[in-house]
This record gives sequence, C-alpha cells and structure tokens, in this order.
Amino acid sequence: MNQSKITELQETLQKNGADLAYVADPGRIAYLSGYSSDPHERILALFIPAVGNPFLFTPALEIEDAQNSSWTYDVLGYLDSENPWQMIKEAIVSRYQVPKKIALEKNALTLDRFEILQSLFSGCDFSMDITSTLQQLMLIKTDSEIKTMTEAGAWADEAFRIGFNAIKAGVPEAEIVAEIEYQLKKQGVAQMSFDTIVLAGENAASPHGVPGTNQIKENELVLFDLGVIWKGYCSDATRTVAYKEPTAFQKEIYDLTLLAQETAQKAVRPGVTAAQLDAIARDVITEAGYGEYFNHRLGHGIGTTVHEFPSLVAGNDLVIEKGMCFSLEPGIYIPGKVGVRIEDCVYVTDDGCVPFTKTSKELMILD
Ligand code: MN
Ligand code: MN
Repeated sequence: MNQSKITELQETLQKNGADLAYVADPGRIAYLSGYSSDPHERILALFIPAVGNPFLFTPALEIEDAQNSSWTYDVLGYLDSENPWQMIKEAIVSRYQVPKKIALEKNALTLDRFEILQSLFSGCDFSMDITSTLQQLMLIKTDSEIKTMTEAGAWADEAFRIGFNAIKAGVPEAEIVAEIEYQLKKQGVAQMSFDTIVLAGENAASPHGVPGTNQIKENELVLFDLGVIWKGYCSDATRTVAYKEPTAFQKEIYDLTLLAQETAQKAVRPGVTAAQLDAIARDVITEAGYGEYFNHRLGHGIGTTVHEFPSLVAGNDLVIEKGMCFSLEPGIYIPGKVGVRIEDCVYVTDDGCVPFTKTSKELMILD
C-alpha cells in the first residue's frame, strides 16, 4: 500500500471540492493499494474519500488475497449473484456522506459503468478527471519499487535467453513465443506484461506485428519484445538478433538503431526533458536518412502498468527527475525489408540512468 500517494490524492480531491475518487484501472489500483489483480469482467474498484479511510471493492473470491496484500484498510466483496452497484452505493453512503462530486478516471472507467454511477448518484457532479493526477503521482518510483522492477527486468533477460535458444531454421514465431512463456511460467512467472512478440524477417517491419506461422529463416533478423509482471510490476524490453550471418544492410540498420538507443540512454539524467530525449535518438536516425522509418515515440513510462507517464515524445516538456522509469526504444521499420527495435527500460539516478534489463545490445549472431 502506498499511503503517501493516497494522501496526496486526497489533498487533490479536497482542493477540487470532490467528495471521493473512484479508481478503476487495475494497474493504478495496484499502485495505490498494493493489491494486484486482473478482475476480467468483474468489478475491482478503489474508493478514496477526500477525508477518511478508503476501501477496496473486489469480487468475493478475491477478498482474502486482497486482505493478505499490503492493503490495510477495509476490503468489501460481492458474490456473482449479488448486485455490486447497490453494495457500492450503500458502502459509500454509510461510510461517508451522500457524495455531490465523484472524481473518475476517465481513461479507465467504461461508459456502461459510468451510466450506472450516474443513475445511482443522480445529480452528482462527475466532471473531475483524476487520470493525469494519478499518472503524475506514479511518476517517481521509490527504491523498493525500483528493486521489484529490477527483478522483473531480470525475468525479461531470462526470457531472451530462452527465446534465443529456441531459434532454429523452420521454427514458427508462435512456437518461440510459446516456449518462452511455457518456460517462464514453469519457473513461477504468473503473467506476461503483454503478449510476447517474436517477429522474423520482414514481419519485424511492423512495430505491432502479431507472431504467427511465419518461420525463422537463415540470414534474417528476429525481433523479441517481451516483459513480465512480477510482484505487480512490469518489465518491457526488446532485442533484435540475427539468425546466421546478417546482410550488410541489416547490420547498417541495426547499428544505427543501437547508436540511437545508446545515445539516448547516455543522455538520460535529471534536468533533461522528455522531448529532448526523443529528439536525441531521432536525430541520429534522421541524420542517417531513415527518419521516416522511426514512426513512433522514443519511449513510455513503466511501473505497475506497462505504459504510463512519462511519454518520451516531441512536444512533452516534462523535466526528467530521479526515480522516473521509462523505456528507450527507437526502431527502424522499412516495409518489406527489415525491422529493428532495441529497447531497455531504465530508472533515473542522480547523474544518469540504469537499465532494468542487462542482455547485451551488441548484435547477436545465432547459429
Ligand atoms: Mn515499450
Ligand atoms: Mn516493448
């Protein structure tokens, strides 16, 4: 549980005249409560009043797990046969007062749930959005969060090791994905932070390609983008390797991507802005004539969610501070030809940064 951040959120609620906040995003609930869960279609919600004690609302089958987490306030649960919304209303009204203003996470709460809230609390003001407030609160990680994220990063390194070992001519991408996830799960990793990506040859030229029956061939590059959720925290890393000797062109694109990644990583320190970091990496690729093929931002924040603040993108003048955690992931994607991305997530120190993943970024040539 993160009491100081809960208190900060309560101060924001007080300043804005809101009676309470409804936190709906599982990653942000995990961050504030210390309880990490994927509720699927059921309701997992964290209610934080401007004044007073918050409570966690979960499916009944999760009450015990939530109570065994670091969360020390009340946990209420509902059975599948019960009406959760009536219980939520009663819990709010009995604990606090009838709310006149409820702050929402507008980028997480679904429209159907919002309409139910509207009908439960008619006349209530739902205009306040706490999405960016929460994103700001989550920007700076504590030492203990960084320690957990370092462990999550080590699992990503283990995933690369498994994946590189699984590469052989004729093996479909999806089979390598299966091998990575199978081996990790056997070792106790419950969940990947997103569907593991293994893309070979020209398939890698699509930044969000889906692994399938495409088989590994000699003299092709293979892109691995993966991460795990470990104790509620995510890792996310990308390596591109060669299967047998790469062509001069593949090497050129690889070396350029690596130079962009490493130049940006060396430039990370408190005081630089998010936009500057994006530009530092982008300039390397643009000057070599491939700027149009680096068609996404340099990076994103990471923590209990795999994509959070800060966004490393042109126009974001956010000043980087110690304790921020984010990815640096330049890529060059030339349709029909080649795709390379190299990604490390890092945490910012007093005078630089440290990556969570340690797998070498020199071009690996697998036999
Ligand atoms: Mn990423
Ligand atoms: Mn990634």
